[in-house]
Amino acid sequence: MMSLVNRHSVRIVRLVGTSVAALALVALVSVWAQTPNRFEAAVKAAYAKYKDLHEGKNADYIPALAKVDPNLFGIALVTTDGKVYTTGDVKSEVSIQSISKVFTLARVLEDSGEAAVADNIGVDPTGQAFNSIVAIEQYKGKEMNPFVNPGAITATSMIKGATPDAIFAKIIGTYSDFAGRPLSVNQEVYKSESETNQRNQAIAELMYAYGRIKDKPKQATDLYTRQCAVNVNARDLAIMAATLANAGTNPVTGKHVIDSKHVPPLLSVMAIAGLYDDSGKWLFATGLPAKSGVGGGIIAVSPGKFGIAAISPPLDQAGNSVRAQKAIADISDALHGNPYLFEVAPKPN
Ligand code: GLN
Repeated sequence: MMSLVNRHSVRIVRLVGTSVAALALVALVSVWAQTPNRFEAAVKAAYAKYKDLHEGKNADYIPALAKVDPNLFGIALVTTDGKVYTTGDVKSEVSIQSISKVFTLARVLEDSGEAAVADNIGVDPTGQAFNSIVAIEQYKGKEMNPFVNPGAITATSMIKGATPDAIFAKIIGTYSDFAGRPLSVNQEVYKSESETNQRNQAIAELMYAYGRIKDKPKQATDLYTRQCAVNVNARDLAIMAATLANAGTNPVTGKHVIDSKHVPPLLSVMAIAGLYDDSGKWLFATGLPAKSGVGGGIIAVSPGKFGIAAISPPLDQAGNSVRAQKAIADISDALHGNPYLFEVAPKPN
């Protein structure tokens, strides 16, 4: 039988034990709360590192793009569990430009399937500029991909609808589902590019002549020009990228946007042709499927993990945003986002 003293000391020991455990828990929680989340830390570090970098030049072949503030710089990262991390100018919008090609392709894959894209457009890099006419001639309108203008305008022409407005509603509806909010067209950019897009009109006519665009090349060029003028901010773009990283389901809204089976082929086109002539260099350095636009945005996808986007209008020689490339590459490095970075499981003896 336990003495009174003994019982008392057991109680004290229990009490002390419970308090120590509680204190340890409080300390742990406060350390955890103070430790910057690794995603947030990576995004903030990239912003701080490149905010004063002023290399490159805004695109000016579309007059309205030359007028965009070159100092605009925003970064966003969205994880596949729907957490959003942003820094810098994440509310300022730019026109989506060539990044639109990814989401039009998503619509075409969903409506018509992989074979229609591979057979009618192709899925190979051209080795030529995105608006090359030589590439069309060389391959007679085939053997290219949906991210160079001939392939992109053809992809737009493959979306069905009773009227041009009905087709465009489908296009912008798809982009909005990817972004998780209703997007709209920047009318100034649309008008500016419509007045200066003779080269794209010529490309569409040539693709029609080669039978790749089946009908109404002028309508296809106009719809393509409108899709390139859709306004987005860095947060929108990161959610769009994260929807791809999350196999076609928007991780923020939970909406199922495209069938997961279309995501791997879509990412593979981003890998081969996402950054124009520098696609190989980019993939070599980061391993990330990505897409840039002359508006200054870039999206990149770390499959199963996160989507990143950055916006900064000044472009390098290849037409890719200088700061967006650097920021995304750093963030992905810090978070081990490269899908080709893997560990080989130890083999059983
Ligand atoms: N609308 C632009 C064009 O067709 C898109 C180009 C781009 O972003 N590379 O010229």
